[in-house]
Amino acid sequence: MQRFLTARDAAMSLRPDAPVYCFRPEVLAADARDFMAAFPGETAYAVKTNGEKLVLETLAKAGVTMFDVASPGEFEAVRSVAPEAGMIYMHPVKAQSDINLALQTYGIRTLALDHEDEVAKILRIVRALDLDPSTITLFIRLQTKGHAAYELSKKFGAAPAHAVELLQRCDRIGFKVGICFHVGSQIEEPETYERALASANWVRSRAGVTLAGLDVGGGFPAEYGHDPRRRKPDMPSLAEIMARLRADLAEWGFSDLPLVAEPGRVVVARAFSLIVRVLLRKGRRLYINDGIWASLSDSWTGKITLPARFIPDPARRSRKGDPKAMTAFRVCGATCDSVDILSRPFWLPDTVDTGDWIEIGHIGAYSLSLRTRFNGFYPDTFVEVDQPFDAGEAPQGYASLETMAD
Ligand SMILES: *Cc1c(COP(=O)(O)O)cnc(C)c1O
Repeated sequence: MQRFLTARDAAMSLRPDAPVYCFRPEVLAADARDFMAAFPGETAYAVKTNGEKLVLETLAKAGVTMFDVASPGEFEAVRSVAPEAGMIYMHPVKAQSDINLALQTYGIRTLALDHEDEVAKILRIVRALDLDPSTITLFIRLQTKGHAAYELSKKFGAAPAHAVELLQRCDRIGFKVGICFHVGSQIEEPETYERALASANWVRSRAGVTLAGLDVGGGFPAEYGHDPRRRKPDMPSLAEIMARLRADLAEWGFSDLPLVAEPGRVVVARAFSLIVRVLLRKGRRLYINDGIWASLSDSWTGKITLPARFIPDPARRSRKGDPKAMTAFRVCGATCDSVDILSRPFWLPDTVDTGDWIEIGHIGAYSLSLRTRFNGFYPDTFVEVDQPFDAGEAPQGYASLETMAD
């Protein structure tokens, strides 16, 4: 892979017409190590956030020994780059054949569920393979209520009384049991984990079974850009959230249990930026070579503020506009689909024009893992970049949280 100091250097050297992912392995390793150092238990990276081979390899090298997986594709992705790593299969609703594959072929021994029919599915395979249930840990996924940019509590999780019943049922069969929850992605209130822990404590005290572990899931917020037109949201740093989580774990009596976390976004977001090219400027519209069907579907929801850096094409001799003025541009994606327009404007220097590049920062999470081949566009060019996105010149632009009138 070609290596550059900055994305600007990459753009100048390659003059890319296709989107380019700028991978920063040192940033990824450092963010993973920071998380592991701060979390008082095992760290299982959530593969769905970004399952690229180079990401999994870098994480394994940085000392991540456990991965949260949800499908045969993810089992294989992890096994092929980190054969010694442990896997936990935390999807609450699984195909019978995938459970069989997990237990028989991949030796996975930790699974999650939120319904008795899932217990029956797992038990059927355990019996067929003649496994001892006590070698398997089943985590009961608890419903949570909290505030995250992306809520998942409506889709998965057993209500507390139901969770009690599931814990007792699995315990009676002879499985080891634990409690897990996933509060959603990019939490917006620091109290979110505490509420979930209070609920887990209620369930534990009613169930009266010995717990083998507690899994607090993901949701830890990544730091994105800040829209200067908005008051800075007072979201605490990861260090503060972790300090609070440790205190809450102690308060609710969970500190002596084996603990697991499944971070995704907070580990990988800063590890990539994306160089896109302006294919056409039409008034206040920028048509770029990426979009919501490729790397920018997460930004399309408008819930995060992506920082951006303007990389003017030096080959352009004349420019219109005031280089110091910032303008809100409507950003249109590469496909011919009319919904492929970012929901929020990008503020960029007024002089942006056809042929220029924009580096969009912190897109490592839920961007390239969500890209499609729609309309024949599939960004797949990677370079390595040494300098962290935030270490360079201050980003001049950002995707605003405001909506924009056409
Ligand atoms: C997606 C997911 C994660 C990762 O969430 P982040 O918000 O990216 O940290 C963790 N656990 C489960 C069960 C998930 O579905």
